[in-house]
Amino acid sequence: MAIYLGIDVGGTTIKIGLVSEKFELLDKTSINTRADSEAPDQITQRMMLSCEKFLAENNLNFMDVLAIGLGAPGTILNKSGMYTFTGNLPFRDYPLREKMRKFYSGQIYFGNDANVAALAENRLGAGQGTANTVMITLGTGLGTGVIINNRIYSGFNEAGVEFGHIVIEIDGEYCTCGRNGCWEAYVSASGLIRQTKAAINDNPDSILAQVAEEQGKVNGETVFLAVDRNCPVADRVFARYAYYIQVGMANLINAFMPEMIIMGGGIGYAGERLINSFKQGALDEAMLFGVPMPDFKTAVLGNDAGILGAAILASDCLADGKVY
Ligand SMILES: [Zn+2]
Repeated sequence: MAIYLGIDVGGTTIKIGLVSEKFELLDKTSINTRADSEAPDQITQRMMLSCEKFLAENNLNFMDVLAIGLGAPGTILNKSGMYTFTGNLPFRDYPLREKMRKFYSGQIYFGNDANVAALAENRLGAGQGTANTVMITLGTGLGTGVIINNRIYSGFNEAGVEFGHIVIEIDGEYCTCGRNGCWEAYVSASGLIRQTKAAINDNPDSILAQVAEEQGKVNGETVFLAVDRNCPVADRVFARYAYYIQVGMANLINAFMPEMIIMGGGIGYAGERLINSFKQGALDEAMLFGVPMPDFKTAVLGNDAGILGAAILASDCLADGKVY
């Protein structure tokens, strides 16, 4: 049987999936990444041996694998096969493809995790039927994956697209990238938590403060729970937060003119409510005159997006005749 092996490398787990040529997820498994306790060689070896074992459990072996696709956080280069940098894992200038080749001699393709997830949503999920899709992943940070003509767009050096690091406020909040005022610093879960905490500080008697106390902490959900309890302070925090999304979103539309913008990530539970809070404003701000309007949807593939996107990447690379 001919299948793709889709691998999704994360900070805590590595997910492995068997994906059919029609991109059905046939089976999946996961192992701990052990990013804190193991060196890149050990992680890579354990990952490949797990793939081999998992294939055997499905009465398959590496000979059945058309190609391996792998998505991972940070800068991972498809052309050179180098995993050059990531914040949460020990890989630095690491020849990952060369190391994986010791176990699997076929084609192995790499993509950044946000790009690969966008590819999956574009082909199989909320962006199905569109050729130009952007996916925004709102979590601790803000990931952006840009799909142009059904292919990942990552620039000439494969380092893009980092749309979370466009500045929306000069001299604004410090961002982890070293700049100030990046979109990510305002609309990531961390940004929302900071804005929520500041509002609680200024309004200790608010319902918002009460909700945080009941939760025992402030998280990305706090402000939404307080809005549900008709808290005017939470309404203001949410409105401002939505405005930050709106401004960046209009920039994004002006830059890429995507047919579909997909919202994913940990803050996705806010879903339609979040989209409705900024959608019209973003469309009004963007340069859209007498042309079809971009649409917004929430991501639908959830945790499987990484595995599926990696398999689609492998299939696309084979179709495009890429041999590395
Ligand atoms: Zn930044």
